[in-house]
Amino acid sequence: MGDGVLYIRPFMSTPKRYYIETYGCQMNVADAELMGGVLRREGHVRVDDPAEAEVVIVNTCAIRDHAEQRVIGRIGQLNRHKLERGGVRLGVAGCVAKELGKELLELAHVDFVIGPDGYRHLPEVLERVDTGERVVLDRFNRSENYEDLEPYRLERGAAWITIMRGCDKFCSYCIVPFTRGREKCRSAAGILEEVRRAVDDGAKEVTLLGQNVNSYCAGEWEFPDLLAAVARVEGLGRVRFTTSHPWDFTQRLVDTIAADPVICRHVHLPVQSGSDRVLAAMRREHTVAWYRERVAMLRESIPDCAISTDVIVGFPGETEDDFQATLELMSEVRYNSAYVFIYSPRPHTPAAALIEDHISHDVAVDRLERLNEIQRGIGARYLLDKVGTIQGVLVQGEARRGEGRMSGWTEQRETVVLDGGPELTGQILPVRVTGLSGITLHGEVVGHATSAVMELPLLAIS
Ligand code: SF4
Repeated sequence: MGDGVLYIRPFMSTPKRYYIETYGCQMNVADAELMGGVLRREGHVRVDDPAEAEVVIVNTCAIRDHAEQRVIGRIGQLNRHKLERGGVRLGVAGCVAKELGKELLELAHVDFVIGPDGYRHLPEVLERVDTGERVVLDRFNRSENYEDLEPYRLERGAAWITIMRGCDKFCSYCIVPFTRGREKCRSAAGILEEVRRAVDDGAKEVTLLGQNVNSYCAGEWEFPDLLAAVARVEGLGRVRFTTSHPWDFTQRLVDTIAADPVICRHVHLPVQSGSDRVLAAMRREHTVAWYRERVAMLRESIPDCAISTDVIVGFPGETEDDFQATLELMSEVRYNSAYVFIYSPRPHTPAAALIEDHISHDVAVDRLERLNEIQRGIGARYLLDKVGTIQGVLVQGEARRGEGRMSGWTEQRETVVLDGGPELTGQILPVRVTGLSGITLHGEVVGHATSAVMELPLLAIS
């Protein structure tokens, strides 16, 4: 596959039915829509069932070993299905494709392997596969940011907009800079145009995506400028963004969020550990004191801003004292939600070499459970305080259980189930929260979506 770039198209593949199965983060979800856009442009047709597909693509995640093993198992399953049916092309995309490259060809009867910078070339790859070639396209391409490609969006009412790709941080445990490469930012003009098109197609909410959106920089544009400009796009009801790195999280960004009600009062701010010793070993750049200052900035300027986080437990060398510091920070910040993970050594990363400081699985599981228990209590209290309030809810579609019930999410991304039909889909509606079961809020619609931004009382009106 030479330098990984194909420009000449000597022949076309016949249109095929394709199926993409996605694992991992929102970046992968957005990439699946990007691949869908590339394939649709060439006449290929999306199906929801791999049994009906002629092209099956597994869009993979390599962030933890468990996630990687899971997708490798799934590739094996789909491979058996391919051999039974015949005529099926099986491809692997995403971070595992970049990490393992041609090794995947030996692992299964995979026809093509395509890394995160290769999606533009999917049609050409399928053409080559049609000739019996097995194709690996896993090189980085510094200039590829898919600026001009239209994704095939699958959600109604909400749109993922990738504003940057890759990461320059090189946290010592993280494989992302090795699978997605260095940071590349799209132009502000291209992003704003994509947001306008998404709104014209019915999106009320957009999420600006990147591994570290706060370091977005394109010409004169920094992230707060971009966020403010997106929020001003006519017809848009909400904009949110993920993920933020505390080191690049500034007062200017907080002021930007505070200044415009279109920008969601919800920030995902991964802390990873409450111990400076562990943060230094993780090469996170920030200290606990720095992190506390970011939280204080947010709480002072936007008291109702929800903060969520990611935490890793069992990082090499983490002592019980380090872990206690994390517990204390969690109790102090009172996150509305937290994603807690056990440290997983990843290839290429410096932390994977810290074998002598390895924490046993039992200790790591115990810490995970203790953190989750504390967070469950904090999260439940936070959700209970919403009962009786009116929340703007973006209705997403039918609820998983129960006919005549729809499901959507609040500004802080909590799931709400409410009575109603499919005609509500894609609207932001005022909903009175009437109850809570588990982590799902229940509510009733109490008005119409009269404008994109609704001024809603935060306190109970009943
Ligand atoms: S900021 Fe750190 S954890 Fe996040 S993607 Fe970049 S290297 Fe990975």
